[in-house]
Amino acid sequence: MSYANEFRIKPGNKVNLAKIDAGYHGGYDNEEAVSAEMEKSSQRLTELQALMYAENKHSLLIVLQAMDGGGKDGTIHHVMAAMNPQGCSVASFKVPTAEELSHDYLWRIHKMTPGKGHITVFNRSHYEDVLVVRVHNLVSKEIWSKRYNEINEFERELANSGTTMVKFFLHIDKEEQLERFRDRLEAPDKQWKISDSDYTEREYWDEYQRAYMDVLSKCSFNYAPWYVIPANRKWFRDLAVSQILVETMEGLKMKYPEPSVDLVAIKQRYHTEVAEEAGLTAVELMAEDKPPKEKKSKKKGKKKKKKK
Ligand code: AMP
Ligand code: MG
Repeated sequence: MSYANEFRIKPGNKVNLAKIDAGYHGGYDNEEAVSAEMEKSSQRLTELQALMYAENKHSLLIVLQAMDGGGKDGTIHHVMAAMNPQGCSVASFKVPTAEELSHDYLWRIHKMTPGKGHITVFNRSHYEDVLVVRVHNLVSKEIWSKRYNEINEFERELANSGTTMVKFFLHIDKEEQLERFRDRLEAPDKQWKISDSDYTEREYWDEYQRAYMDVLSKCSFNYAPWYVIPANRKWFRDLAVSQILVETMEGLKMKYPEPSVDLVAIKQRYHTEVAEEAGLTAVELMAEDKPPKEKKSKKKGKKKKKKK
């Protein structure tokens, strides 16, 4: 079963979120039941990221959008845990600063897109400019309604330049949101996340859902697909996201670059030095097929001296 196929919004499809079950959890009953699959997927993600970094050819942009409490932070924690920090980063987009507002809305976004070999996760994104901005009339309809095409063109340009995009909408239902807000109230390590706007924005739930449905219906393409992830169950959400990332990255057919040095020459040279110390020819030494350090245990003192 490919969650990429199951949850991808096909270009041109009209999305009705009310018909997508946020509580769906595949064939799994609980977190324990997904743990083996999850482990396998995380390990593969680790390998693929190392490969992407080494190949230095593709970039991966992961866009995360959700209603408040939808699990963006948890998903980031889990996805990034499988990755080497050297090749990945997170960019969070909050209420724009005065400087950001003095530029076009894509200005702050474009600056944060990943370079070759790198992965960037967007915690919120340019889509806020057709979500919160639309729901609260922060600009006129005339302006925001043009943005779907502008965003599509922007993403097309990124794709043409070697950036692979995966966009996840973490889909929870209204009851689950309230449940999570309640959890936040009760957990001392989560209370800091509570904001007044959580509750006031909740009153705009239907407007947000409509704005999301327009985003999903107008901005999903093969070069930058949207995935609607059933996210009421965190463990299923994490598995689906992880497996979709693995499938996407495997599709890039990445390869480790050829070594830029002559490995045979280096081996011979290195083995020749070791052989001299050990009183063997390079060929004899290589034939033994043992790590050089072990072979030279008798002459340890001498070797140390020579190194300095
Ligand atoms: P959080 O992700 O909980 O830290 O909240 C970030 C806040 O920034 C959310 O309330 C977003 O709606 C808001 N935000 C993000 N981008 C924009 C934008 N372009 N215009 C207005 N508000 C935004
Ligand atoms: Mg928040």
